[in-house]
Amino acid sequence: MDRYPTTIRCLPPWVFESIKLHTFTRMNTTNHTLKLYNSLHGKKEVFEPLESGHIGMYVCGPTVYSDVHLGNCRTFTSFDIIYRYLLHLGYKVRYVRNITDVGHLTDDGEDRMAKGAKVAQLEPMEVAQRYTVGFHDMMRIFNNRPPSIEPRATGHIPEQIDIVKDIIERGYGYERNGSVYFNVRKFDSENPGIYGQLSGRVLDDLLAESRDNLKSQDEKDDPADFAIWMKARPGDIMVWKSPWSVGFPGWHLECSAMSTKYLGTTFDIHGGGNDLKFPHHENEIAQHHGACGCSPVRYWLHTNMLLLNGKKMSKSDGNTITPVELFTGASPFVSKGYSPMVVRFYMLQAHYGSPLDITDEALQAAEKGYRKLMEINKILQKFEANPAAYDGSETDSDRAILQLVAEAYAGMDDDFNTAIALAALNELGSFVHKLANQQLAATDVSPWVIERLKTVFLTFIFDIFGLLDETENNSDNGTLEGLMNLVLDIRADARTRKDWGTSDKIRDGLAAAGIAVKDGKEGTSWAKI
Ligand code: AMP
Ligand code: ZN
Repeated sequence: MDRYPTTIRCLPPWVFESIKLHTFTRMNTTNHTLKLYNSLHGKKEVFEPLESGHIGMYVCGPTVYSDVHLGNCRTFTSFDIIYRYLLHLGYKVRYVRNITDVGHLTDDGEDRMAKGAKVAQLEPMEVAQRYTVGFHDMMRIFNNRPPSIEPRATGHIPEQIDIVKDIIERGYGYERNGSVYFNVRKFDSENPGIYGQLSGRVLDDLLAESRDNLKSQDEKDDPADFAIWMKARPGDIMVWKSPWSVGFPGWHLECSAMSTKYLGTTFDIHGGGNDLKFPHHENEIAQHHGACGCSPVRYWLHTNMLLLNGKKMSKSDGNTITPVELFTGASPFVSKGYSPMVVRFYMLQAHYGSPLDITDEALQAAEKGYRKLMEINKILQKFEANPAAYDGSETDSDRAILQLVAEAYAGMDDDFNTAIALAALNELGSFVHKLANQQLAATDVSPWVIERLKTVFLTFIFDIFGLLDETENNSDNGTLEGLMNLVLDIRADARTRKDWGTSDKIRDGLAAAGIAVKDGKEGTSWAKI
């Protein structure tokens, strides 16, 4: 990161990052043909923004009723890299990522936020605040940039009520006992080909599926219909007045309301994990069409799931690891702790659309790969070309290096394929090695190509991939501090609950990772051993 003066580099990474925003290397958007895999059409398409040079991007954010898990981190990190690359290409991007703090129900129909609040005997807003802060901490630890706007569902109830009114007015919504439902059958017959296009589901299959569950459906005209407004039941605590009842909006409605408000009725990119394709995104498309007669999104992007040892991560069958357990090594699934940047590097090695399996061996390899890349970059940035020794002609090595640089960009242009870009960067690294070891003569690579290589490394590693150099003291301490605040917070919660097992597990895990934790009257402190 030599291009930034020491006075700036000494700042905590998140302050440094926002200053970097102003010096971010930007290209001219017209030089690139960017292709995206559009889940709506099931194929790669050339990306063309609605308005030249501008992009509106909406990503479904977390439901803040529990700690953010690693799978969420994979999805948000993937979209962070997409956001960074779009900025790098020179687009002005408005990136909206919401906070879901109402309406996302559990399988037994209870609001996740309200359930979390009841269990912890807190106000729902207290629960939302606590896990939103935890989510932001985690995003910072992974060095994800904040979005341009982060709206909350509870802050947009009037907008959601307006959409329900529009849907009813256009004939696609009906009221039953104070709840309002979206009439899927009518919508499908009047607008054929829209419902089911994203998820690939056929309406009749959906009906067969939902017939098993008719008990909770008796209010609806048709089992495929979904609630857009729900009348509160006795005991519901997150409720608002509406023309139909005191109640709360259906979960899918919030994303329609917030994306429309900040990005317009049709916008460029909508993202989320592929588990959201159905019913969340399918219903979002239908109700948006139902409300305004137009398609909400041009390009739908879906990330694939994070696995642990080849199986879906799941809390219920114990096949799970939290980010903090992964960082500290306090889990039977890993032999040691892995730093946030090693985990980020690991994520970069796969395309966002492929499943990603977390295993101890793969993380060990990623740790080596990450350190090697940082090392090579340091060697490269210190390398001094000697212009006097060159005769000005293009060499074979020049051509090979420029070809690899083109491959790195081609990888990113091909649906943000970080795996290909990273592989090209690693191959470029072997040129740097050869130059440093004098296996390549200094005259084999032209000075301007060396300068280009330096810029490409800095740009890809820090600006596009969003890695931090944890081998550099300043950023290491900043990241570690953020991380330790979070870990000690979780430990303090465990101690309040008298969960001494978790508290000791965290302390022992940290000790194994070289960090001593001391509990005193003034609170808990830590130090590197
Ligand atoms: P949630 O908080 O459950 O609403 O999820 C927030 C985001 O994380 C959504 O885009 C989900 O699709 C995504 N997500 C949830 N689980 C995983 C997983 N195991 N791997 C990748 N992304 C996930
Ligand atoms: Zn959403």
